[in-house]
Amino acid sequence: MNILVINCGSSSLKYQLIDMNGEKVLAKGLVERIGIEGSRIKHDTTGKERVIIEEPMKDHKRALELVLEAIIDEKYGAIKSMDEIGAVGHRVVHGGEDFANSVIIDEEVMAALERNIDLAPLHNPPNIMGIEACQELMPDTPMVAVFDTAFHQTIPADNYIYPLPYEYYEKYKIRRYGFHGTSHKYVSQRAAEILGKDIKDLKIVTAHLGNGSSVTAVKGGKSIDTSMGFTPLEGLTMGTRSGDIDPAIIPFLMEKEGLTFEEVNNMLNKKSGVLGISGVSSDFRDLEIAAEEGNERAKLALDIFANRVRKYIAAYAAQMCGIDVLVFTAGIGENSASMRELICNGLEFLNIVIDKELNNVRGEEAIVSKNIGGVTIMVIPTNEELMIARDTLELVQNR
Ligand code: AMP
Repeated sequence: MNILVINCGSSSLKYQLIDMNGEKVLAKGLVERIGIEGSRIKHDTTGKERVIIEEPMKDHKRALELVLEAIIDEKYGAIKSMDEIGAVGHRVVHGGEDFANSVIIDEEVMAALERNIDLAPLHNPPNIMGIEACQELMPDTPMVAVFDTAFHQTIPADNYIYPLPYEYYEKYKIRRYGFHGTSHKYVSQRAAEILGKDIKDLKIVTAHLGNGSSVTAVKGGKSIDTSMGFTPLEGLTMGTRSGDIDPAIIPFLMEKEGLTFEEVNNMLNKKSGVLGISGVSSDFRDLEIAAEEGNERAKLALDIFANRVRKYIAAYAAQMCGIDVLVFTAGIGENSASMRELICNGLEFLNIVIDKELNNVRGEEAIVSKNIGGVTIMVIPTNEELMIARDTLELVQNR
């Protein structure tokens, strides 16, 4: 069966068409600037040259129409007709407490997604728009929602309840949800598979380090704690997000700088993290170059980032009473050997010892720890699309 995987942002749409018979990517692409001047699609069919389609796209429905046309185009398409798409898998950011697993989308699911908009006001509305556009264009094709939060629904209450008046959890569902769940689930399962071990026997820490970053403790295949919280702002220092800070800084700054709620929110999400510390960039490639050239604040930003990741790894090893495997994934985790080394430096007391030579890899699966019977350190490129497609196939086949 061919499965179309859709990931809608507010003005973007990423897609992949996967043939589940062999899990081969048939086509993939990115639509940018939906609803803004200059909309375009970068479409790649495997084995064919990339095409760029530049056409006005006033909304997600128009974008999706053009994506479907590209997929079945005689010249640069991957399949002959839309009938060859057996199901659609949608990435949905927030499932709240309603979804601990992926689900077939029906009216009840759509109502629950609407209910959860409050929890993810930036992310869920475009996800819903994407689903509605697909339903209009492919009314007879089954659709599945795969949630970024679902994998973390196994986190126990002592890790998800915040030390605030309990009534706010009851009234507003303020609690830790965690994100990047599909990625943490994929790389933890893949780690066990590569090692030929049963995931039930493993204590794994997964470090998803990209533009947004989070660390998860995966014990026996289940997420038991994760660094992102009620929103993706908590936890690690990120590209532009602050991660953990003393909450008292917020009212202090609001008063001193006369900032509004929106300005503070913007500062914490868009102007902080390694960008805020360095004043250079949110991109780790730029920071590494600047640090090499002697920029002290760029070096400080990299050290702070590594330090935070290190703290979470050690904390999660403590939570699980041990650690067997440490996995690095996403843009930085997969590509930056120097950041992986920096993070592991100082964790030798936990038997986390990186091998400089083996660590010299980029974007491929590898074991990078010294072979001393300690923690297995792995690099595993994430593949959220495949995970979404697998869940979609399973649900659609077992309907
Ligand atoms: P992601 O959000 O997973 O796409 O990760 C994007 C981030 O990965 C970028 O902002 C970069 O900071 C980082 N990145 C990508 N390639 C490299 C690299 N070769 N070295 C260091 N950082 C990288």
